[in-house]
Amino acid sequence: RERLLDNLRDRQTATTDGRDITLSANVEFNHEFPLVESSGAAGIGLFRTEFYLLGKGEIPSEESQYQVYSEAARITAPHQAIIRTLDAGGDKLPAEPLPEPEPNPFLGWRGIRVSLTRRGMFKEQLRAILRASAHGRLGVMFPLVSGVGEIMQAKSILQECMDELDREQTPYDPGIEVGVMIEVPSAAMMADEIAKEVDFFSIGTNDLIQYTVAVDRVNKHVSNLYKPTNPAVIRLIKMTVEAANNNGIWTGVCGEMASDLLLTPLLIGLGVDELSVGTHQLPKIKKAIRSLSHAECATLADEALRCRFSSDILALTEKLAHRTY
Ligand code: PEP
Ligand code: MG
Repeated sequence: RERLLDNLRDRQTATTDGRDITLSANVEFNHEFPLVESSGAAGIGLFRTEFYLLGKGEIPSEESQYQVYSEAARITAPHQAIIRTLDAGGDKLPAEPLPEPEPNPFLGWRGIRVSLTRRGMFKEQLRAILRASAHGRLGVMFPLVSGVGEIMQAKSILQECMDELDREQTPYDPGIEVGVMIEVPSAAMMADEIAKEVDFFSIGTNDLIQYTVAVDRVNKHVSNLYKPTNPAVIRLIKMTVEAANNNGIWTGVCGEMASDLLLTPLLIGLGVDELSVGTHQLPKIKKAIRSLSHAECATLADEALRCRFSSDILALTEKLAHRTY
């Protein structure tokens, strides 16, 4: 079995009827970079930079960030490495000690909200990402965006960094892809407008589920309500993919849903273009995609979109998934 998965490593990831799915890797630390290649991933779909940035007591300098992002670019070339800007707060490490605890950290100062209020820190990260983009194919992605205004602000700061680098004659890739995490319901509902501002979407289902159903993702008391197949979540994913398609941009999924074999048929059927998963799960997901037909997954997704209960949607996707084991 191990050999079987080994053999799959270098193969393209397409369904039996020829729909290509980009299968990329989620990483949290730079020491995981070598695993990206050995897992057979087509690049990095999500580099959660907060572990690297906040794990050391103080935020690494622009120069050391540049080294790490350059390594990501080099190791994944010719594939893409998507660097997510700092996602602090909520269930994650705080960006800095707060004078008083937030009453609702999940609804508080987290994700892009932190970066937009700590411009100096944000610009150092963006400059490091831009400079590293000269060494491969990087993407930059903003977390916890809740509407069009935030993405416009983030983009204008990115443009400011590009202008600075131009003046300094420092090389970067002017065509670097800019994307946004779709993980807040308001962003999913505004996806048709947000799509006009970016090159790609990456759906963060971990947060999207928690905010859609109002269930804390780390609270055991309510975990019975935390269901990836919740019909409202499935509709929001569908809305997001449609908005992306209508605007000619691509959609990925980088939350845990992408790593769940039972849900692979459903996500493929909903029309996502990319799945970004942990390096350990990657070979299995690749094998599953290669044994599914996009047409049958699309029929399944249509049916799922008419369901009223999570359990019905799960049963539908399970039926197809079992065939892929
Ligand atoms: C998500 O929310 O699904 C996601 C990928 O981001 P994180 O788990 O880091 O919040
Ligand atoms: Mg998230």
